[in-house]
Amino acid sequence: MANKKIMNDKSLKFLENYLNNASPTGYEWEGQKIWMEYLKPYVDEFITDTYGTAVGVINPKAEYKVVIEGHSDEISWYVNYITDNGLIYVIRNGGSDHQIAPSKVVHIHTKKGIVKGVFGWPAIHTRSNEKEESPKLENIFVDIGAKDKEEVEKMGVHVGCVITYPDEFFIMNKDKFVCRAIDNRAGGFMIAEVARLLHENKQKLPFGLYITNSVQEEIGLRGAEMITHTIKPNVAIVTDVCHDTSTPMIDKKKQGHTEIGKGPVISYAPAVQNKLRELIIDTAEEKKIPFQRMASSRYTGTDTDAFAYSNGGVASALISLPLRYMHTTVEMVHKQDVENVIRLIYETLLKIKENENFSYFK
Ligand SMILES: [Zn+2]
Repeated sequence: MANKKIMNDKSLKFLENYLNNASPTGYEWEGQKIWMEYLKPYVDEFITDTYGTAVGVINPKAEYKVVIEGHSDEISWYVNYITDNGLIYVIRNGGSDHQIAPSKVVHIHTKKGIVKGVFGWPAIHTRSNEKEESPKLENIFVDIGAKDKEEVEKMGVHVGCVITYPDEFFIMNKDKFVCRAIDNRAGGFMIAEVARLLHENKQKLPFGLYITNSVQEEIGLRGAEMITHTIKPNVAIVTDVCHDTSTPMIDKKKQGHTEIGKGPVISYAPAVQNKLRELIIDTAEEKKIPFQRMASSRYTGTDTDAFAYSNGGVASALISLPLRYMHTTVEMVHKQDVENVIRLIYETLLKIKENENFSYFK
């Protein structure tokens, strides 16, 4: 496994298609279809729930259940208010960044299809140099080229339509993946690759494996909260993204020090079950997979919390993919880290014993 190439042309093509499809929080199903289509040959069956979470299951009859999880949604905006002269004010759907909005092209999702728009911004010439206004939720607006509110409505745009960015996947300098929504489409990709490798290497697991792509993480871990009660797992290994803190204007004393290219990031937090985390660290050391450490006070802020604090307590851990420029349209990760997260989850699964309860008292 260690010397074997992880990603192939087919998986890279899947990653590209999966990323280029918009999957805003609450509207994840088209992305879930792409994901399930790729995962299909490697699982026995699928579970889907009312809000769109999708789970590929290996050994569905097994009593002991292990989840590997990522989230399928991406941050977006909602149309909130349309002015009489046809401009659109927005509110967040997830942690969308007001600072990057001006001059971005947007896609408004309507029943009639995509309507293109732009976040407008006053020209540099017209602004006061004494007091520069910075972009904030109250002053950013979308222009779709309509003369008034009536024309906006005729174009199919109404309050409640969701707005995404059209930015697409590309590879920069051979091994950096760049796109919007790598948070957390990379997670869905990596757990799908784990399933593919288990299948291709003919690994038989002694437990049920639930490859889970949760919806609605970006607005508060809601998809994971729902699906954990459906699955009732014994173990959950969650993967999400974390910050590369080596780029400008980030305080390492506050944010810690993690970087792209230096390996998966393993979390220390109350929601992380210590014995499960040590199993992951032992695995990384034994298999010579590089890794970094991160500490969280109180919450991890990821689906780990939702799994950990459900069903009377589920042994949970978090393996993160370091990423630059989170919640911008140019999120960036290192290909090697993607492969090493896949390897680390894969190798850890092979070490989990059936009925392991990770008790501190034995
Ligand atoms: Zn996010």
